[in-house]
Amino acid sequence: MPTPPAPTPTPSPSALAPPRGAPRGRARRVLLWTALMALLVVAQSLLVVLSLSYESGRAQDEAERVATLAAAEIKRELLRQAREVQSLAFLPATPAREAEAAVLLKARHGLERVEWRNDDFLLLQAQDTPFAPTLFAQMPRTALSTEAELACSAARIAGAPNFSRSYFVPLPGGQGSEVVDLCVPLPQQAGGGVLLGSFSLARVVEQVHSERLASGHELTLVEADGTRLARAGPGRGAGVFVSRQVLDLPGFSMQVRADSLRGRPSIVPNLITSLVVGLSLALFAVAALLARDGRRRAEAERALAEALALRRAMEDSLPTGLRARDLQGRVTYANPAFCAMVGFTQQQLLWPATRDAQTPSPEVQPYWPPEFVAEYRERQRQRLEGQGRHPNEAREGVETVFMRSSGERFPVMVYEAPLVDRDGQQTGWMGAVVDLSNQRRVEDLSRQQQERLQASARLATVGEMASLLSHELNQPLAAIASYASGSLNLIDDEAAAADPTLRPMLQQALQRIAEQADRAGRVIKSVHAFVRRREQQHESIGAEDLFEAVLPLVRLQARKSGTRIEVRLPAAPARLPSVRCDRTMVEQVLLNLSRNGIQAMEALPPGGEPGDRLLVLMAERAEDPRRVLFTVADQGPGIPPEVAARLFTPFFTTRAEGMGLGLSLCRTVAEQHGGALSFGPGLGPDGRGTAFRFTLPVARGGAEARPDPRPDPMSAPGESSDTAGPAELSSSRP
Ligand code: ADP
Repeated sequence: MPTPPAPTPTPSPSALAPPRGAPRGRARRVLLWTALMALLVVAQSLLVVLSLSYESGRAQDEAERVATLAAAEIKRELLRQAREVQSLAFLPATPAREAEAAVLLKARHGLERVEWRNDDFLLLQAQDTPFAPTLFAQMPRTALSTEAELACSAARIAGAPNFSRSYFVPLPGGQGSEVVDLCVPLPQQAGGGVLLGSFSLARVVEQVHSERLASGHELTLVEADGTRLARAGPGRGAGVFVSRQVLDLPGFSMQVRADSLRGRPSIVPNLITSLVVGLSLALFAVAALLARDGRRRAEAERALAEALALRRAMEDSLPTGLRARDLQGRVTYANPAFCAMVGFTQQQLLWPATRDAQTPSPEVQPYWPPEFVAEYRERQRQRLEGQGRHPNEAREGVETVFMRSSGERFPVMVYEAPLVDRDGQQTGWMGAVVDLSNQRRVEDLSRQQQERLQASARLATVGEMASLLSHELNQPLAAIASYASGSLNLIDDEAAAADPTLRPMLQQALQRIAEQADRAGRVIKSVHAFVRRREQQHESIGAEDLFEAVLPLVRLQARKSGTRIEVRLPAAPARLPSVRCDRTMVEQVLLNLSRNGIQAMEALPPGGEPGDRLLVLMAERAEDPRRVLFTVADQGPGIPPEVAARLFTPFFTTRAEGMGLGLSLCRTVAEQHGGALSFGPGLGPDGRGTAFRFTLPVARGGAEARPDPRPDPMSAPGESSDTAGPAELSSSRP
């Protein structure tokens, strides 16, 4: 059965090494990360700058707003107070006017003094605010009236109230105040003259400066040339966010300057900025974590890729076919070895390719031989239902038959194990498939070779057997001759002829002759079968039956040399089981070994102790409980090493009448029964003599050996009659 050559691709080194593009990929990753970090830095810096600039813009806008509002408010306040002062102009010079003026001076902060003057600007009446020290206490009014006079001239010309330029009025305590005068020309019908109201600019600004209007700002009134006239506010402005608004009054204009107390926004205390910075730091931290995460992921991916490459290389180079199937029995994976084994491509094997194939159902695989489809489907069905699966199936495998694409059937061994996913759920089966065709071929070859060897060995023994036959037949023929001559002697002996026991004795002798003739016939048959290597006539038999069968002949021989025979069998209850053997051949072995032992002891010098010549036939349990050990032991001179070396060589003998085939045959028979023939020192405590041992297999279900110590009717006088049975030691008289 030709097998398609299984592909054995060796894993390329690149398959196991990290991909070649790895350094370039790393450089690219480093570049990308650098770019990302640079962008982040730029973006974050821009964000900080923008937030600072936004802060600045807001502060500047706030200053603008404060300046505008303050200018409007100051103007409104001054004009309102101017209107109230103007209302005094129409009152006659009565105490009521004084009272009215006092109310006004009390109610309005900023209005410091009211004066009535005539057309020559001479003071007629003056009233000061009750809150502040008298304006002109430090320096007389006459020294400070220039601006007021100029304003009055302009007011008279315009016929409308007019403000003077501001001028500095020193106050007690080294202080001073910028003051503007409002000059209201009085109508001629009321006597003419002017009404002067003096306003302290500082008070007016203080009055206007409120939490709502200008918190966080210093409000300053300045002249066009920058001279500070008055200020209000919780502190000095920082001079960074400054706004100026022109304040136009009739006859006088100045600027309102709002100066934020805040300096340039700095990064640290600023809320938005710190928020932005915090966010940026968080962003960088996230980016760093992401980078670390990315690096770990890249490492894991690389390890995974390496593991995958290794797995693929292993799967591709495996000579074993690998095949995965889902729970419906459809093939979901097949490695190259499996494809090569069955001769189908992966596309032909894998689901869903098989769905479109000719097969009637997807679980039927193209490599199933059609004649087995029903059986395999049934097996698969049972497996899917969880039946018929032996837990050892994965380990021991199941032998089955697959079909190549060429239609050739071939034996395979399938080791199938459940495929379990990460959650412990079974998703299918993973099978390793081994093509057994090569193994089978090798086994066939070896069997054929062994048979050929055996045949030639048997042929070689044919010659051996031919000689053996004559050798083995010698014994029964000698026994026949011996019984026959004994019978003749009896008939010839007249005295004996008259003996009434003659007839039964003759009968027994003739029976023995018939037995020995029959035995000779069996020997011929058995040797014939041995040469033809026919199935041997194995039967189940007890050890004592075997002994019993050979004992008459053994005793016959033993009697001549005065050898005692002892049969040893285990006593009850440790009875021996029956053995399974070719009875005739085993009897032959026992006979040969016994005869050799007796002959060896014949070589001993005559005389000696009565127990010197003892032959023991023993059967016992072997170490392997499936076998029974047989021993034939003598107390002869033992076997010298030079003889031991050639003991089993056919035709090796030390005896003049020997043929040197007995032991060779014994060994062959022992081996045919699955054992071996060995020898060692004798059983006695001094190790005298030789013990030959061989084992026979216990008969399957063999009954315990039956202890049946039947008396041997042929026991000649002087022979032991207790030849078998549980006796550990039975003696025989010589
Ligand atoms: P044969 O008995 O015809 O000589 P065997 O093969 O039975 O042939 O024996 C070969 C030789 O082994 C014998 O000639 C003898 O020298 C030696 N031998 C066999 N059995 C014994 C024994 N029990 N004690 C000593 N020598 C033995």
